[in-house]
Amino acid sequence: MMNNQGRPTAPEAAPSRASKKTFTTNRALQIEEGLIFELGRADVAGVDIGEPAPFDHRLGGLLREEPIGLPGLSEPEAMRHYVRLSQKNHSIDANMYPLGSCTMKHNPRINEAMARLPGFADIHPLQPQSTVRGALELIDVLAHWLMEITGTHAVAMSPKAGAHGELCGMMAIRAAIDARGEAATRKIVLAPDSAHGTNPATAAMTGFSVRSIATGADGVVSAQAARAALGPDVAAIMLTNPNTCGLFERGIVEIADAVHAAGAYFYCDGANLNALMGKTRPGDLGVDAMHINLHKTFSTPHGGGGPGAGPVVFSERLAPFAPVPFVAKDGGLLRLVEHAEGKNLGRMSAFHGQMGMFVRALSFMMSHGGDGLKQASEDAVLNANYARAGLADVMTQPFGDRVCMHEVLFDDKWLEGRASRRWISPRRSSTRASTR
Ligand SMILES: *Cc1c(COP(=O)(O)O)cnc(C)c1O
Repeated sequence: MMNNQGRPTAPEAAPSRASKKTFTTNRALQIEEGLIFELGRADVAGVDIGEPAPFDHRLGGLLREEPIGLPGLSEPEAMRHYVRLSQKNHSIDANMYPLGSCTMKHNPRINEAMARLPGFADIHPLQPQSTVRGALELIDVLAHWLMEITGTHAVAMSPKAGAHGELCGMMAIRAAIDARGEAATRKIVLAPDSAHGTNPATAAMTGFSVRSIATGADGVVSAQAARAALGPDVAAIMLTNPNTCGLFERGIVEIADAVHAAGAYFYCDGANLNALMGKTRPGDLGVDAMHINLHKTFSTPHGGGGPGAGPVVFSERLAPFAPVPFVAKDGGLLRLVEHAEGKNLGRMSAFHGQMGMFVRALSFMMSHGGDGLKQASEDAVLNANYARAGLADVMTQPFGDRVCMHEVLFDDKWLEGRASRRWISPRRSSTRASTR
C-alpha cells in the first residue's frame, strides 16, 4: 500500500530494540545497535519527494499491492545509525588484531601522513610521466625492496590484491607453458587441501584442473605426497608457506626440486610473508612466482578499511612473462614502459597499481629498516606462540602442540560435549528467558 506521499507503508512495527533508546539516543558503548529495519518507522522519511504526476503504468497484474517494507528514518537518524556502525570497524586504536596474515593490526600513522603528501595523493595515472618522476621513483624503489626481500628477479606491481596477484602469477605460468608448446599436455595444478580458497579458484580461472594433495597428520605437505602427485601433465604447484594452519612447510626445498625436475613451476602464495621476512627468501627456496599482499605484510588497512595491493615477484625462469607496465631507467631518467615486445603476458589492469598502497608499504619498510622488518617477523611468530602456550590448557590444536609460525590454529575438539551442556541446553535458555 502506498501512503499519500507516494511512499510505501510498512506493516505494523515489530517490538524492536529501538524501544530501548535513551533520551539522548546515546547508548554509551556502541554495542547494541538495532538493524535499520528495527529502528525505522513507516511514517518518517529523510527526503521529501513530490508526488509524481499521474501516469499509466504498464505492469499489468504485477503492480505491487503489499507495502515494500523499507525502513523510514529522519536524516539525522539515518546518519547516526551509519556513524555508529562505522564505529564498530575494528582498529588498533580500539583493540588488538588477532589475525596472523594481516599486519593491519599495526598501521603506523606515518604511513598515512606519507600517503597524503600532495605529490603522491593528488596525481592522476594519465598525467604526463615527466610530471610524476617522484612517484615512478617510489614504485621503482619499492619494487627493488620487494625483489631484495624475496630473492627474486622481476616484479609486477600492477595487481590489485592477493587474489589478483595469484591470477597474474598463474597467467605467467600459463604463458611459459604455452611458449614451451606444452599447453595441451600440462593441464593440472597441484594444491594441498589446506590451501586458501583463492588458490584452486585461480587455477581454475586460468584454465587448469586442480589435483588436491592431502596434508599429512602433522599439518604439512610431505615431499613424498608432492612427488606422487607430480607427472608430465602437471603445470604447477600452488603452495602457501607458512601454510594456512600457521605451520612451516618443512619439505619446501625438496618439493621445489621435485616440481622443477618434473618440468613444472612453483607458485607460492605469499600472503604469510610476514612470518619469513628477513629470515629466509622465497627465491632461495625455489619459488618461481609469488604474490605479496602489501596490505598484510607491509601494513595498510584493508578489509573494511581500504584497498589492497598484490605485487607478484618472479624467478629468472618466469621473469620474461611478467606483465607490463614496469618502470625502466633510460639515461638516468625513470620511465613507465607500457608496451613492450617479447613474451610478456600483457597487462593486468588499466593503470599502474595502487599508488596509495605503494606509499604506505614503502613508508612501513623505510621506517622499520631491514632489521626492523626482520624483528616484525620474529615478533609475529613470538606473539602467535605466546597465544598458543597461553591457551594450551583451554583449547586444542588440530596437529598437536607444535610450535607455530605467525598464527596459531585451534580446532573445535575442546568444545565437544560442552556445547549442549553449558551453552544451549533448554533449561539454561528458559532460565534466561524468565529473568528478562
Ligand atoms: C589473504 C589471502 C589471500 C588473498 O589475498 P587478497 O588480498 O585478500 O585477495 C590468498 N591467500 C592467503 C593464504 C591469504 O591469507
